[in-house]
Amino acid sequence: MFFCKNKNINNKIVLDINEGNKNNVIRRLKCIVKYADRHKYSIVINSELSDKKLNRELKIIEKGINIKKKEERYNYVYDEICKILDEKINTNYCEFKDNICYKDRIKNTNHQNGCCDCKGRGKCKYLIDSKCTLGTCMACKLFTCPMLRKKGINESVNSYLPLKVFFTYKQREILTFSFWTPKRVIINRLLKNKFVKPKDYNDEYR
Ligand code: SF4
Ligand code: SF4
Repeated sequence: MFFCKNKNINNKIVLDINEGNKNNVIRRLKCIVKYADRHKYSIVINSELSDKKLNRELKIIEKGINIKKKEERYNYVYDEICKILDEKINTNYCEFKDNICYKDRIKNTNHQNGCCDCKGRGKCKYLIDSKCTLGTCMACKLFTCPMLRKKGINESVNSYLPLKVFFTYKQREILTFSFWTPKRVIINRLLKNKFVKPKDYNDEYR
């Protein structure tokens, strides 16, 4: 296998990543994680890449692989990706002005609070004084409406390598669709690999 070509000393796999082998290593990372878990190996990732986003994600993967308890690993990866998403959200890409977001200003609706208060569902119970008091819901942080997507802002679970490496397709669906849900509930869903889409807006905690 590919990583047999890498140093494997004292139950440690050393991955040296450079521009030449980058795509090959990234394509095989999921399989390397499985291999390391099966054999209880740890992994060291040495990156010579200049891409800061990718290097940050590789650091998360390196630390994540070496956390062998599933729940701890999920919590760690979840928190790190939420940190990245929060940094982006704090740039105000939704262009809130006077509490009216980009979409609602373009549509001239005067609607406040963006998609935290939406038609059908009404105002989210965690929105107090126009602030999210939950702060741990990855699906909310990932959500980008069609208006944002039109101007090139498009978040997705698949844009984050650690989520692709550590979670299955089904688990990434859980992360995408568990809106307005506390982290502990989402982690539980990930551990059980089970998610029943809520029947209505009040049916959240399953
Ligand atoms: S995602 Fe779209 S609808 Fe939601 S707050 Fe941002 S601009 Fe508004
Ligand atoms: S949980 Fe989601 S929908 Fe509710 S206030 Fe926070 S960001 Fe908005």
